[in-house]
Amino acid sequence: MRSRGLAVALASSVCLWSVTSLAETQDAVLEISLTDAATGNLVYARCLVNGALGKDGCTVEGQKPFPVGGGWWYVIPGTLRLDVPTGETTLLIERGLEYEPIRDAFEVNSGETVVRSYELRRWINMAERGWRSGEMHIHYPPEVVHDQILAADLNVGTCLVAWVAEGDERSDSPEIDPIRRIDQDYVYSINDEEIERFPITEYGGPVYLLGLRKQIHLDAPTPSYPTNIEYMRLARDQGGVVALHSACFYDAPVAAALGMVDAVGVACNFFGYDYTMKRVKHYGNADDLQLYGHTPWGTANMIFGKYYRLLNCGFRLPVSAGSAAPVKPNPVGGNRLYVKMDGALSYEKYFEGLKAGRSFATNGPMLFFEADGTGPGEEIQLDEPGAIQARVEAIFNKPLGKLEVVFNGDVIKTVEASEGEDSIREELELPIAGSGWIIARVFWAEDYPIKFAHTSPIYVTVPGHPLDSSEDAAYYARWIQHRIEWNKTDKGFRQEEHRLEVEKQLRKALAVFEGVI
Ligand SMILES: [Zn+2]
Repeated sequence: MRSRGLAVALASSVCLWSVTSLAETQDAVLEISLTDAATGNLVYARCLVNGALGKDGCTVEGQKPFPVGGGWWYVIPGTLRLDVPTGETTLLIERGLEYEPIRDAFEVNSGETVVRSYELRRWINMAERGWRSGEMHIHYPPEVVHDQILAADLNVGTCLVAWVAEGDERSDSPEIDPIRRIDQDYVYSINDEEIERFPITEYGGPVYLLGLRKQIHLDAPTPSYPTNIEYMRLARDQGGVVALHSACFYDAPVAAALGMVDAVGVACNFFGYDYTMKRVKHYGNADDLQLYGHTPWGTANMIFGKYYRLLNCGFRLPVSAGSAAPVKPNPVGGNRLYVKMDGALSYEKYFEGLKAGRSFATNGPMLFFEADGTGPGEEIQLDEPGAIQARVEAIFNKPLGKLEVVFNGDVIKTVEASEGEDSIREELELPIAGSGWIIARVFWAEDYPIKFAHTSPIYVTVPGHPLDSSEDAAYYARWIQHRIEWNKTDKGFRQEEHRLEVEKQLRKALAVFEGVI
């Protein structure tokens, strides 16, 4: 039953795509050509013509439009010829997060061919600064991902060709080399897998298995057995990467305790191109609703807060990012992870950097953070508690709001951007009370949708001053105990010994949290 969920999701999208092509009669032609202002070379991008669905009325031979925000877009592979309706025509061209968008409006007359050339300009060049972008949650099929990552200027793409949504059937699949390189700046994998099973609906959530040489399918008629942890273990065994959607994933603490997690999503698909989802009621634990509130900012605080609890338990977990395009109306790379790397780009080096935590996740701003001369993923060793010097730089092509530095879950510094300012550069003195972790995060000035960047942690070790994990370990221990209780009456087992096996796994994870209380 490979890809059943994905097939359903794409089928519903295809229905909408066909509606677009039934729009008004076109009797004019628009020809667009697009170059990079810095190089003069033709480049890929995406375009929205005449606004949202139902209004555009244009068609492109050989292409289906795809959803971003409220509109249906086309890829411009350097040049594009569209059949368009006559009258006032508006155009929006975008290329990932590092380029300024282009807007234009003009009149198109019946029978006319209008030719338009545009130059795309970067507001920042991250590759020049030694950072490369990628994302973990792309649902386009392999034959489409190539164009999508070029149109998004995303250096590293993934392709979740299988979506294990509930049960799964053991099936064999060929072993392949999953890496496809476009050129020195773009590479992607074509054999990734998403596990999204919901044994307890309100606590459910997904995990991404990336860089797989062979698809993983098990004899799992229900979501209960084998557990998602088994999929993670098999992915790891073949050199794959395990990235959690977020720490809201119901098995996140179990997976973390058993050492199965390479990265935890913060810039996940709850933060979209033009939306922020309210998700606390659906994904939170029992006491999260009171703690965070069922609002967009509640979602942000839950995503960050549950991740911070894992860090407070002593797990060294870097951040990650994903868009869920096109299942969610987000562009590929709208949520992305920048990894610091020197030298040439490769898929393997990018994921080595991801696992080492030399990274920040973003759906808009860029964020650079150093403390005591070290960057995210590194460790500072202090002889005793005291102040350390930090440097932060945040840049956006829109006004910034506040920048915060968080130590062991508490905000210890806040810098407010001056009104209308699109950059923050500060030297900060950070009070460090003991061992733990530090991250920086920065937000767009607008309250909605939430646009932010969030670094992976810098770790701090101070002998004789251990991280206090008691409250957060107790929080996750309570949750795993809840899972153990639920497991006793779970109807999703074929054999009683499987139930016992799952309980044993949960108890092993529980012991880890009880050990750090
Ligand atoms: Zn997904």
